[in-house]
Amino acid sequence: MNAVVLDEWGGDLEVREVPRPEPDPGEVLVDVRACGVTRTIENAIQGGLSDDPGFTPRIPGHEFAGVVEATGDGVTDHEPGDRVVSYFYLTCGTCERCLRGDTNQCVNFGGWFGVQRDGAYAEYATIPESNLLALPEGATFAEGAVAADGLATPLHVCERTGVSDDDTVLVLGAAGRIGVHLSQLAANRGAHVLAADVDDARLAHVDDLTPDAVTPIDARGDDFAERARDATPFGDGPTVAVDTVGDLDTLRDAWDALAMGGDLVTLTTHHERSFAPLLKEFVVKEASVVGSRYATKDEVSRAARLLADGRVTADYTDTVGLDEVPETHERIRNGETFGMTVLEP
Ligand SMILES: [Zn+2]
Repeated sequence: MNAVVLDEWGGDLEVREVPRPEPDPGEVLVDVRACGVTRTIENAIQGGLSDDPGFTPRIPGHEFAGVVEATGDGVTDHEPGDRVVSYFYLTCGTCERCLRGDTNQCVNFGGWFGVQRDGAYAEYATIPESNLLALPEGATFAEGAVAADGLATPLHVCERTGVSDDDTVLVLGAAGRIGVHLSQLAANRGAHVLAADVDDARLAHVDDLTPDAVTPIDARGDDFAERARDATPFGDGPTVAVDTVGDLDTLRDAWDALAMGGDLVTLTTHHERSFAPLLKEFVVKEASVVGSRYATKDEVSRAARLLADGRVTADYTDTVGLDEVPETHERIRNGETFGMTVLEP
């Protein structure tokens, strides 16, 4: 089969023919129909998740959907022909966190699909049975690829902060796939949304893909905190601010703009940066900094259902073949993309 292969972390991607994998016991062979080509995977390629040379050569790619082709010994919950969507984290399934459904907090975390084991930038992929969820009828494979991370991750943010109809949510980096989907989800829950980004094309992209309750706001300029605050219904600031970018100036602005009791949410894992407000600032505003880590399996399932049901519009702008994946990553690296590219191998 054809696949996109990385010979060393931080190296170049190469499209080449490799043997089709066979499913080991407990694993499933999936005919990959769609896989997101994203900044998260770019981070993995650069060694941002693991740079252990023992894990290369590697086929990257974790945000995928497809059809079960074959099953290994002992697989009971899937059979050939099943439409499936993937879960990113390799989890144990038996610890207390897994058993209570908080699979993103697995204490025996085994790493990431597409890092510790080959991923889905290929015609076929093998994956543990427990990493597959049903792709509902009504959802396309591309939508499944969106659900796997690009929609499940912001759904988890909404759950972490309990976004509801009395919130105003400020989204930083709103034109990315996480930002667009978060803006839609928060608006669906009745919140006002301020969707901040840094150029006109990005702001127009957000405006096109989100409902009326979402107001694009330009994040450029020294007066951003003041404008963000003024743009909230009572002028008292956003109750939730979500950083998808990791820009420290913007993060500081968002923190300054927060309403009393507000939450600043961070979910960037691709930057070695720190942000340390004065301790008294937490107290004076009773504000919180909240971390949000990927999503649970249940949230991936729910994300797929939201797309199948038409309640959320998937933000992907183009589809590519395997041959175009290396070039797409180059564009991601150069910051030339917004919206999500979907690989259809
Ligand atoms: Zn576990």
